[in-house]
This record gives sequence, C-alpha cells and structure tokens, in this order.
Amino acid sequence: MGSLSVAVIGAGAAGLAAARELRREGHGPVVVFERCAGVGGTWLYDDKVSTNHHSSLYASLRTNLPRETMGFLDFPLVSSDSGDSRRFPGHAEVLRYLQEFARRFDLHGMVKLQTEVLSVRREASSSWKVTYSRKQEEKEVIVEEEVFDAVVVCNGHFTHPRLADIAGIDGWPGKQMHSHSYRVADPFHGQVVVVIGYKPSGMDISRDIAGVAKEVHVAIRSPAAAAANISQTQQMPLPANQAHPNLWLHSCTVHIYVERAEGDGSVVFQDGSRVKADAIVHCTGYKYSFPFLDEDDAGINVDDNRVGPLYKHVFPPRLAPHISFIGLPFRAMLFPVFQLQSNWVAGVLSGRIELPSQEEMMKDVAAFYSDLEARGCPKRYTHDLGTSFEYEDWLAERSGLDKIEEWRKAVYLAARKNVTDRPEAYRDDDRSLRYDATGCV
Ligand code: FAD
Repeated sequence: MGSLSVAVIGAGAAGLAAARELRREGHGPVVVFERCAGVGGTWLYDDKVSTNHHSSLYASLRTNLPRETMGFLDFPLVSSDSGDSRRFPGHAEVLRYLQEFARRFDLHGMVKLQTEVLSVRREASSSWKVTYSRKQEEKEVIVEEEVFDAVVVCNGHFTHPRLADIAGIDGWPGKQMHSHSYRVADPFHGQVVVVIGYKPSGMDISRDIAGVAKEVHVAIRSPAAAAANISQTQQMPLPANQAHPNLWLHSCTVHIYVERAEGDGSVVFQDGSRVKADAIVHCTGYKYSFPFLDEDDAGINVDDNRVGPLYKHVFPPRLAPHISFIGLPFRAMLFPVFQLQSNWVAGVLSGRIELPSQEEMMKDVAAFYSDLEARGCPKRYTHDLGTSFEYEDWLAERSGLDKIEEWRKAVYLAARKNVTDRPEAYRDDDRSLRYDATGCV
C-alpha cells in the first residue's frame, strides 16, 4: 500500500507511539488530533475537575510499576537528577518523559492541540472523513473536515466512569464521586467514607483519604479479599493494617459491592456490617467509549467492555487495516505494548507486514472469544493481557522486533504481585525487584 495519510486520535502514550511508528514507516501526512492543550493524555494532571476533563490522576499518584517496565523499549524512563528519581515516580515525571519522547522524535509538529475529533465516517471503501472542532483564541470554535486513508484510534479508556449499582442509592443522602474526579483528600476531613473497589486506584485513594478521614470502609471483591488475607466469611470488618487503623476492609461477592444504601445515611455491606457514611467514592473502573465513531461504520461495538470484533485487540476484520485501535489492553506493560501494536499497524498499512484474510481473522477472534468463555472469563476482561506475554511476543515476531527482555518481564510480574501483597510498602521497599539479565535475583 506504500505511504498513506493517517489520522491518529489522541496524543497520549499510545497516540505518540503511533505517530512515531507511522512516520518511521514512511506514512504521511500523519496528523495527531488532541483535544487537550498538551500531549501526555492521562499523565497531563489537571487539578480542576470539569464536566469533560480527561485525566483521572490524583495529586498523590505515583506509578504502580517500576520505571524499568514503564518506558518505551528503546527510550527508557531513566531517572535524572533534575526530576523525580524514585523508582516508582510521581505522575509529573511520566508526563515529563512523554513530553521528552515527543521532543526527541520530533512529534510536536504532527499534533493539532485543542482539536477534538467529533466524528469519523467512512467515505469510500478505504477512506475516512474526520470532522473536528478546533479552539481558536477568545473561545471561538471552528469545525473542519479532512479525509484520510486510515484512522488509528488512541483515545484512551480511563475517562468514562463505571459506577457500582447500589440498591437504595437514590434515597441515600451522602455525596458520591468516582475516582475519575478524585484529586485530594481534604474534602473528606473528619468524615466516614466508603470506598468501593480495591484495585490500584482504590488502594491508593483509600489510604490517601484515611490520612484525614475519621473512618474509611473499603468494599473489596472476594478474589482481592483473598489476596489481601481477608476472610470471605468474616462477619465483622477487619482493620486493614497498622499504618491506617481507621481503614477497614469488607469483603463482598464478585457481583455486588455493597448490599444497600439507606435513607438515614447507612451503607450496609455484604458481610452484614453497616456504617453511617458521609461519602462514597467509586473506584470501580472505566468504560471503553468511542463517541466519535458510528459502530456500524467502524465495524465494532462495545459489549460489557469488550470492544469487538477485533483481531488481536487492534483491527476490525471487516475494515482492516484502514481503521485500527491502539491501547485497548490493560494490566500489561502498557507503553511497550503500544509501541509493538503501533509498529505492527504501521507495517501492515505500508504492506511490509501481511494480515490474514478477513475470514481467517474472524475465525481467530471467534476462537479467542470461545477460549475466554471456556475459561469462565467475563467479557469485560477481554483486553486483560494476563501474565503470559504471548501477545507481546506474537506482536514482536510479526513486526520483526526484539521481544520484551526476560528480565523486564520478571520485574514486571514481581512488581504486580507486590501491589496486592504489600499495598502499603511496594513502592518504597523494592528488594524483591532486584534483577540481572536473566530475571529477578
Ligand atoms: P490516554 O493517556 O488516556 O490518552 C488519550 C488521549 O486521547 C488523551 O490525550 C485525550 O485527550 C485524547 N482524546 C480522547 N478523545 C479525543 C477526541 N475525540 N479528539 C481528540 N483527542 C481525544 N499505566 C502504567 O503503565 N503505569 C501506571 O502506574 C499507571 N497508573 C495509572 C493510574 C491511573 C489513575 C490511571 C487512570 C491510569 C494509569 N495507567 C498506568 C494507565 C495509563 O492510562 C496508561 O499508562 C497510558 O497513559 C494510556 O495511554 P493512552 O494513550 O492509551 O490513553
């Protein structure tokens, strides 16, 4: 196919990786549309919470992975004297790193900032009309259109909150928020707060709030409860740890976080305990959303957080390779995955890498979905890459790139285990993350 004009939607880590790989492959023009005022996506911390804010970062956030497993494979996130040299740095260090990545590979000129893609529609069999609004000075907004040979969607998936269903919540008098809008603990001073969910954000935010609140009660799902040594049959809440004696964990089933909320302010947990709470913070994850796409036109739909059908999480078989999705996977070494996916997409678009036929791709997708079903894996975990590195190795082989090194994989796996085993200390006690060329030592 040679050199194509490509629209990239989003200038977060995925969009920047895509822009670099597309240009390296010889495509052009490549235009990156970014609705925020800078590059970096999620890592562009915003202390103001507006109706349409993108970033879900809170002020105290540090990475949950060590820097060796965060950076792109050939552009490591190294520590410097001038920045935050911790192995699990604060969010500003990651933003600085992404800005440096864009500078180093001269990507800024490709990015149209403050430019929101409003719609992407198929024009002919293989071209796309992208309609976007551009902010001018004095709040003037201009709507424009451009046609591209291909579209690469990199709009992120940590922005549209998923809330827990709670019986009786409409009559409950307290304040609710989602972690998407959580920034600092101050508003919870002296309060009794229920935190729903205990994945990395729930772990951090519950501890953050426990520093100022009277009590924090966390509803934690059974598998996570088991990992945190919380008995699933325990009828009374257990103090979570010594460091925060006002933090309590309440185990719950996979389907329901909290039994009900009542008009007098009570929140009733599944373990039978109840508290009168001032606030509920939902740390219950996010929904994939592509408001600028017409699902039929783009060959995908979102069903219980499965974006599909997609061949290897990237190409809708019916329209491949002219539309692709980079960055859908979660629970993985994300920046390296974005880089591998981007190289694959760029190579397929130029014709350097061949895709199977539409029928073969559909067959592969169907086999993948039946395998997930046979393993009892809910649809919403479709894009969870797990711990095998099969996918990453497959992409590297396809693209002719080096596989992720064994030591890096070992450090990543050990780091992930630490998050659940030692939520309090894993960032600063990293003894188990020492490594040599073969793995952790
Ligand atoms: P994003 O960073 O979300 O970027 C998407 C971009 O698309 C944004 O800039 C957005 O403005 C733009 N956009 C969206 N829609 C449009 C549109 N219509 N028009 C134009 N532009 C648009 N990952 C790690 O590896 N380590 C961590 O420690 C870690 N911690 C995290 C903590 C939190 C609280 C969250 C929410 C995520 C964390 N992540 C972490 C995951 C993080 O999201 C990824 O690291 C990565 O930044 C995702 O990049 P992305 O480019 O896919 O999406």
